[in-house]
Amino acid sequence: MHRMLKRQLKKAYPKGAPDNIEFEQFVKLIDQAYFSMSEELSITERSLDLSCEELKQRNDTLSGILDALPDMSMWLDQEGVIRDIRVGEFNPPLVSKEDEHSSISSLHFFKNSIPLQHFLIDYKQIGSKSGELELSCDSFTYHVEAKLTSVSKQRWLLVIRDISLRRKLIEMQTERMDQIKRTQKQLQGLINAAPTGILITDESKKLVMVNEFICQKLSLTTDELLGRNPLTFIAKKYRLEYLSEIQKHISYDDTILDSRMDLTMTLPSNETIKVEMAFSTLIFEKKKLVITAITDITERKRLETQLRILASTDPLTGAYNRRCFNELSQKSMSSTERQEQEFTILLIDLDFFKSINDKFGHAAGDDVLIETVKAINTCIRESDILGRYGGEEFVVALPNSDNKKAREVANRIRLCIENMVVKTQGHDIKLTASIGLATSSGGHQLEKQINQADTYLYYAKDNGRNQVVDHKIYHANSKLCR
Ligand code: GH3
Ligand code: MG
Ligand code: MG
Repeated sequence: MHRMLKRQLKKAYPKGAPDNIEFEQFVKLIDQAYFSMSEELSITERSLDLSCEELKQRNDTLSGILDALPDMSMWLDQEGVIRDIRVGEFNPPLVSKEDEHSSISSLHFFKNSIPLQHFLIDYKQIGSKSGELELSCDSFTYHVEAKLTSVSKQRWLLVIRDISLRRKLIEMQTERMDQIKRTQKQLQGLINAAPTGILITDESKKLVMVNEFICQKLSLTTDELLGRNPLTFIAKKYRLEYLSEIQKHISYDDTILDSRMDLTMTLPSNETIKVEMAFSTLIFEKKKLVITAITDITERKRLETQLRILASTDPLTGAYNRRCFNELSQKSMSSTERQEQEFTILLIDLDFFKSINDKFGHAAGDDVLIETVKAINTCIRESDILGRYGGEEFVVALPNSDNKKAREVANRIRLCIENMVVKTQGHDIKLTASIGLATSSGGHQLEKQINQADTYLYYAKDNGRNQVVDHKIYHANSKLCR
């Protein structure tokens, strides 16, 4: 029988319960009821025990989390009394040892911080809220994020987090961005001031910066150029060379290289310009960039060509001067030798030229020299070399020409000069020329061969002029003379 029923029965019947069957059954029923009620009670008790355990576990976990955080956290009740506090890792400490931890309003930093007092006004009504605050305490300002969470009807959790470092990082980041922008602006200013075209390309060979000079040259705006590959402005012939140069600069690791090349650019107007490109590598903001400085050398190239011509030709007639003739002939002689061919030198001297000067004047003599060179040029091939060797003396190198062929050319020249009428200074001037011809089949020096031709030329002069003399004529007649 259930102990509670027993107690009740003892109270009602101190001398013992009535002894009849109905009463017994009644007692049994009540006993059963008592028993199941007690079972339910013990289940409820057990579940309550379990919930308490779970709640305790949860609280422990939360406490553990709060302990692990560098934040300040405190449990407040509705009176502002601090039920639990973790002071957090503030530097300098936000809560000193002397602080009394009994209520929020008694804390030193709370008393000193109007923003925090504003933040916590009516916290019981608001429940949960958060915000960034500046807490001034002992002449030190903390940048904090305050978070208030309503945990139950009587408990609030206040967490104060130091965000000074985060703020500092954001400030540093902003400053860095500003610095990059400033440097970029300075770089842009610098490249704009350059008197040459400047293109800056990234690793994908696309333009990331251009200067005003190149914009003007290409008649395109900066926006039209950025993002494009400059390859489109390079003449097709030079594209591979340009690409390999750029690739070389991109591929080298951390090495700042300098190199240059001459090439032709095709402008959007289809005009072409000769340029010199100087390449160098720049590491900017950890990105590898290739700077290409472009100088228009069209005029320089023209002047160089002009200078080369001036340095290699006779200014009056346009024929090669002695130095250049010797250089070119030497090369031609060597290649003729390699081909096992014959090489001929013609030395041409105008007959009685002094008398032309004397009769018609020096200017007329000059014109005769000019016309003579023109006449000789009509008789020789592109590969032949004509030089002015002295005042009225010319030399022609005939590569791959044997004696027979060379004699034909020499006679053609002689006849051409003989048949020429130079109309100058109101005169019709006629003249003749004597030619010495020396052929070699290899192994000869150019100078020696010219000297040989000179001997034959003077033989021609001595024997009536207006004739071609070669070794055959020279030796045949020399024998006769002996
Ligand atoms: P020869 O038939 O023997 O060769 O007689 P030549 O008169 O042609 O030869 P000579 O050496 O006596 O005279 C050459 C002249 O050529 C002398 C010089 O004044 C003249 N001469 C040299 N260079 C120039 C020049 O650039 N212009 C002019 N007009 N005359 C020149
Ligand atoms: Mg002469
Ligand atoms: Mg002469």
